[in-house]
Parts: sequence; C-alpha cells; structure tokens
Amino acid sequence: MLDTPDLKTDHKHSASKTPVRCPCCAEDVTETIYHVPSIPVHSCVLLASVEEALAFPRRDLTLAFCDACGFLFNRDFDEDVMRYSTDFEESQHFSGTFNSFARELAKEVADRCSVSGKHVLEIGCGKGEFLAELCKLGGATGLGIDPGYRPDEGRGTQDEALEFIVDHFGPKYEHLSADVVLCRHTLEHIPHVADFIRAIRGMTDSDETWVVFETPDAKRVLDEAAFWDIYYEHCSYFSPGAHARLFRQEGFEVTDLQLVYDHQYIVQYAKPAPGPTGPALPLEDDLAEMRQLRKSFPERVRKLQEQWRDRIRAAHAAGRKVYLWGGGSKAVSFLTTLGLGEEVQGAVDINPYKQGKFTPGTGHPVIAPETLLDNPPDLVIVMNPIYVREIGQTLSSLGLDPEVVAV
Ligand SMILES: [Zn+2]
Repeated sequence: MLDTPDLKTDHKHSASKTPVRCPCCAEDVTETIYHVPSIPVHSCVLLASVEEALAFPRRDLTLAFCDACGFLFNRDFDEDVMRYSTDFEESQHFSGTFNSFARELAKEVADRCSVSGKHVLEIGCGKGEFLAELCKLGGATGLGIDPGYRPDEGRGTQDEALEFIVDHFGPKYEHLSADVVLCRHTLEHIPHVADFIRAIRGMTDSDETWVVFETPDAKRVLDEAAFWDIYYEHCSYFSPGAHARLFRQEGFEVTDLQLVYDHQYIVQYAKPAPGPTGPALPLEDDLAEMRQLRKSFPERVRKLQEQWRDRIRAAHAAGRKVYLWGGGSKAVSFLTTLGLGEEVQGAVDINPYKQGKFTPGTGHPVIAPETLLDNPPDLVIVMNPIYVREIGQTLSSLGLDPEVVAV
C-alpha cells in the first residue's frame, strides 16, 4: 500500500551533498546516515477513514549527522507541512506502565526542584496531565503552553491552579517567568533547536530557575538501529551528550543527566549560568561513541528492516494473523518504513481515543484489545518492549495466547 517513492525526491536526496548548517552548533554538515522516502508527515495523528489515511501528506526524511556535536537531524524537514492541531491523540496516559513512570518523575521533579508554593511553566504540555500531576503533588501553580492543548472532560486538568496557552512557545513568551521550566518530549519536534533553547535562556533571568527536559535518547536509536523511532515529526535527535552540549553552549549549567524509562529517554536538570559552560558529567562524553555508531548504522538498519519484512511476510504467507500492539508513532513508522500492507491485520491500542481510526500512510485499523476476539492473532509485535508484561496480562485476560515479540 506504500507509494512507490517518486524519482524526483530520490534524485533530490542523492544530489543533496550541499552542506547544511547544524541547528545545534552551526557547523557545516554534509554527512547523511539514513533516508526514508515518502513517509507520512504525522505519525501520531489517526484518520477517520482508510481513504484519508492513504491520502495523508508525505515527505522524505534524511538524517544528517553533525560530526562536531553528535546531533542528528532531518535535513529534508519541511516546517510548512507540519500543522499541529488539537485533533492529535498523542497521550500515553492510558497505560499503567507509563502512568507509574510519569508519577515517579513528577515526584522526583517536585522534590528536586522544591516546587511547593512555586510556579511551574511547561512548554509542550500536551493535554496537561503531567503538569496537573506535578502541581497537585507538589502544591505548585502551573502554566502550560501547547498548540495541541484542549480541555477534555475527565482528564483531570480542570484545576484552578493551572492555566493553559494554546500556542507554540517562542521568543514572544520571554516575558513569562517561572521557578521551574519543564519541557518533555518536545525538543525532538523543534527544527531550530539552538534558537529554542536561547529563548528559554532569555526567559530565565534568575540563576535559581530549574530547567528540566525530557527528550528521547537517539544514541539508543542508533545503537539498536530502532528505525521505528525515526519519523517525520521528530526532526531533531539527541544523544545525552549532544543534549547537554546544546544547553551548555546556550548558557546553562547542566547539573544532572540521566537515562530513564528503560534507557529510552534523557532527563536533564539545568540552571542558568552567566555564559557557556564546560562538560562535567560522565554521560556527556559520548561523541566518540556516536561517531562509531553512525558508521555502522546504515548497514545494521538495512539488515534489521530486511529481517522484520521477511518475518512478517513469511507469517502472512503461512496464514498467520499478525498485529502490532501500539497505534502510535512507532507503529506508523514501522508500517510505512517497511512498506507493509495486508501482511498486518491492524494495530491494537488501549487508548479509546485511537480505536476505530486508521494509521496515516497505510490505512491499518486501530482496534481495542477486545476486538482481537473477532479475529484472533497468531503473532503480536509489541512496539515498545517496556509494555510486554502489561500486554501479556491483557492477552491472557482475553483468553488469547499468541506469539508475542517486541521490536
Ligand atoms: Zn552540530
């Protein structure tokens, strides 16, 4: 069902040896390590019909590697095609595993940043669940900014201590002040990352302000050749070191850098400094390793894609019913990157807002776990290994016993 990549875009890719400026450190970058033609420009949006899903806008993704700072970015990224709206369903807050992780992190932030009686600003707050949790837990007031925020009944964000601005964060919000600036799973969507961090630095005039970021770890993606974690909305990819280097360059002291959630996410604590600062934490020292990983990545990712494609096609040919578990970005990237169609029956998701919809690019249905009973699975591919246990329990409670594998 995947469109054949058109020759025009392929030509553009092979010819694109012109240097581009690194959005982090401003060095010239020519090296690219990965290319996927014609992928949906959004992978966390689900469509109401198969037709809409198949007609979804597509663009190319070409990952460039900056040898100077270890940052990776989509050099073909087209900002104009990105249109964040409130139709997006990106909330992971229906999963017990994710909820307990978020609760633990909220506790940690409340404690470390002593948020009691303070004001927390969350940039890219999504639907506001985390901000609500943190402010309730720590006795703080909160302001959330997100172009996709919408007040939903029953999601627990109707609180007097909380305010929301439905917009993108940028230099026009430099007048806002906060004791804690929080930004989770947002930086990877920002193309001009140095400008973005500079705007936050411009807002934080007190050296007592905590700046807490949570961003996916791209070193793991390179290491595991996790191509399902590479998709169009994510135009910026950070290793822990690249992340810290950017903040240090823009005038922050990075006080702590951790890998959390099964080493999938970077959590970084920083405070404003008078000027650029130098590396101090063990996790920052990853540039040599990133250079090594990027050399072997193209071959490793090609092999892994081939293995998955062969495995799924063989299962389908043998009459086995294959489902993905997870109807989010990873599933969409997995399906479109591998060019899978009828070989996969659909994607299961526990989020009721996703059920009954279709994946952009391939038009696979997203179904509730109970719907599996109508057409029981033989093979379930779990898009995030951290959920395997939770999914196993759900399947047994339905009386189903398919083969379960994780990416
Ligand atoms: Zn760079």
